[in-house]
Amino acid sequence: MSQGYIFKVIFIGDAAVGKTSLIRKFTKSEFSKEYIMTLGAQFTTHEDKIEGANCRLLLWDIAGDKKLSSLRPAFYRGAKGAIIVFSHASGQEESFNNVSFWLNDIRKNCEKIPIILFGNKIDLIEDDELSKNKGKPTSNDNIEKFINGNNIAGYYKTSALTGNGVIDAFQTLIKILYNEYK
Ligand code: GDP
Ligand code: MG
Repeated sequence: MSQGYIFKVIFIGDAAVGKTSLIRKFTKSEFSKEYIMTLGAQFTTHEDKIEGANCRLLLWDIAGDKKLSSLRPAFYRGAKGAIIVFSHASGQEESFNNVSFWLNDIRKNCEKIPIILFGNKIDLIEDDELSKNKGKPTSNDNIEKFINGNNIAGYYKTSALTGNGVIDAFQTLIKILYNEYK
């Protein structure tokens, strides 16, 4: 009989960056333009097989509302991995500035767990802007420096709308967790 693993993964980031949409796209291949605010937290499970082993992810989608900060440590409890999401959409630049806040919040409340960064809504900007405009805080170069300087296990540009990067991004975390616990 093959062994099974269960990993709790927390999803965090500012409101409306696409956390719920990314989980939906990854687990159900669905996307909706409607915005329904997540209240508190909700969770979805996803099963995957790596090297013949069953890995079940418990994806905890946590409301990115700073006012609910007193509840967050309870949602973080037992997490084995974390995904921080920000948005590349114009008008949501603040969501990248706040990545440091979320990073700090996780490090304060969790054991040492792998953290992956998702830069979502990549469908709304030109790729050139991220490769050529080096002064932009969210340029490829600047984010590479940021993740290296903050010990982040990976960075993926994603779109919950087109599905671009979504599977790769999630798979990376599953593999990291599997290799850590196998
Ligand atoms: P959350 O608050 O972080 O959970 O964000 P949601 O998943 O609820 O998404 C907020 C809004 O952004 C919704 O209207 C989604 O349809 C939209 N959205 C989410 N991801 C994407 C994306 O990758 N591209 C585009 N164009 N819109 C997105
Ligand atoms: Mg949500």
